[in-house]
Amino acid sequence: MAGSRRPGRNFLFVPGPTNIPDRVQRAMIVPSEDHRSSAFPALTLPLFEETKKIFKSREGQVFLFPSTGTGAWEAALTNTLSPGDRVLAPRYGQFSTLWIDMARRVGLDVEVQEEEWGTGADPERIGEALRADREHRIKAVLVVHNETTTGVTSDIGAVRKAIDAANHPAMLYVDGVSSIGSIDFRAEEWRVDCAITGSQKGLMLPAGLGLVCVSKRALDAAKTAECRRVYFDFNDQAKANATGYFPYTPSVPMLHGLREALACVEDEGLEAIFARHRRLADGTRAAVKAWGLTLCAREPKWHSDTVSAVMVPEGINGAEVIDIAYRRYNLALGAGLSQVAGKLFRIGHIGDLNELMLLGALAGVEMAMQDAGIRITPGSGVAAATEHFRNTREG
Ligand code: PLP
Repeated sequence: MAGSRRPGRNFLFVPGPTNIPDRVQRAMIVPSEDHRSSAFPALTLPLFEETKKIFKSREGQVFLFPSTGTGAWEAALTNTLSPGDRVLAPRYGQFSTLWIDMARRVGLDVEVQEEEWGTGADPERIGEALRADREHRIKAVLVVHNETTTGVTSDIGAVRKAIDAANHPAMLYVDGVSSIGSIDFRAEEWRVDCAITGSQKGLMLPAGLGLVCVSKRALDAAKTAECRRVYFDFNDQAKANATGYFPYTPSVPMLHGLREALACVEDEGLEAIFARHRRLADGTRAAVKAWGLTLCAREPKWHSDTVSAVMVPEGINGAEVIDIAYRRYNLALGAGLSQVAGKLFRIGHIGDLNELMLLGALAGVEMAMQDAGIRITPGSGVAAATEHFRNTREG
């Protein structure tokens, strides 16, 4: 149809799915192959080992489910817990809400700790709840590390300390879907029993893999846990990890893509990736400040390095900014979800991107905001971000 082509690249600035590096995309163009062949474990066995580095785990096991983050949530809960088991879960955004909902639907008894949206997990309150639980009925604490809805990162190290200080045996499960591979995450140091992510964010792949990094303790719990599971059974997956063959037909192109994505991470270096995300996020935050706007995250300690949720002024619909950005400027921004629908838009700064890509997006945000009736000084955000990038440039 004439006029339907949109020249140039789409600017994908949602907080996942993220840009796929060209070399990862090329690595996924492979013919179908026999996933039962004698050659197949040469592809899969190193992946199970290499992927652990992303979680900063040596002792754990990583299971790769042909799924997404949501499947990995379900795998973590159903493999390690039994119906009626109590879990403690702070709620401060749409993803913590959905995980809590899932926990209830698989039969768990969820003690919810309500936190204001724009804040995150409160280690003190978690410690209090655990200390009050003298009979140790709480079997696990469920925390979303990076709440993608609000652009809030919680301090998982502090949550671990709170659990230890309460001398409570609860396991710790962490959703790192929009943090792992982009924001420092230490599964082993923080003794995270189930660390969860998906392929379409920090791993720079299409959606299609749900990853869980499981501690020895969680694997032991799987021996007696009674929640129903079939497709997501850890015990079946453990055989895959040992033999290199999956219990079902895996997506072979995704596995090739994962191998290349892990090579990208190795080439850049995990710590350098975290620093790049911090720098891009700081540039974005400088732009937001220069526009005279605020973030949904209430205080700097909650700032996320992978997504900034920008509050729109009273009387403006954030969804309109997003729609204009997409239609007029070929720029995809994240929507406000649930409680914050219409009140904000989200700029994802996660995955394979650099300063100039982000500056293009910030320019697009400025245009879309002005078109939607938000009064800002044109160029102010872009100028603030360029200053930040110039002042913090290495070499
Ligand atoms: N948890 C968080 C923090 C997320 O951001 C998302 C998706 O954006 C999910 C869970 C759900 O993951 P998926 O859409 O891969 O199932």
